[in-house]
Amino acid sequence: DSFDAMELKTDLLRGIYAYGFEKPSAIQQRGIVPFCKGLDVIQQAQSGTGKTATFCSGVLNQLDYGLLQCQALVLAPTRELAQQIEKVMRALGDYIGVKVHACVGGTSVREDQRILQAGVHVVVGTPGRVFDMLRRQSLRADAMKMFVLDEADEMLSRGFKDQIYDIFQLLPAKVQVGVFSATMPPEALEITRRFMNKPVRILV
Ligand code: AMP
Repeated sequence: DSFDAMELKTDLLRGIYAYGFEKPSAIQQRGIVPFCKGLDVIQQAQSGTGKTATFCSGVLNQLDYGLLQCQALVLAPTRELAQQIEKVMRALGDYIGVKVHACVGGTSVREDQRILQAGVHVVVGTPGRVFDMLRRQSLRADAMKMFVLDEADEMLSRGFKDQIYDIFQLLPAKVQVGVFSATMPPEALEITRRFMNKPVRILV
């Protein structure tokens, strides 16, 4: 029940402690290691439980930093949440030198394109802008190996279902999927059935 025991990369561990976390929360204790093993994971947890650091750690631990291509995509229902996740990812990945960019609506498309072209390891975004970047091929999906849906129930209730499906179609078939959701309405279950491979379920 410590971050040390999770066998994370040393520079990630340094980032976690520097951020001020001392002990993993319940969801972190149960969720980080399966995600780091490459398993598909469904985590039913409210916000405030430490879910952001759970998937950020899972993503950061598995990135190949020598490869400046987008290897992980995180979708969130709102611009604010996406930008908050971007900050946590950048902070925890500080010693690793992770390059993260938030692709959200209401910002300059040109600027997004410029940053993506320069190279990132991780993109966090809202479905509309992310799909737009994929469609324009400003964001390449070739090297993507992790896909996280944060607050999946909230994304579905905001009408993002079609865009989430469209994005799934553009990702490599073998992509690892993590779904985080406070509740599991039928539409969320349908996503897990269609796109996940023998998911581990964690209920906190
Ligand atoms: P989240 O559920 O990801 O929105 O996180 C809720 C809050 O808990 C945030 O303010 C985090 O910084 C904080 N938090 C997450 N994990 C830990 C931890 N292991 N130790 C202390 N605080 C944490």
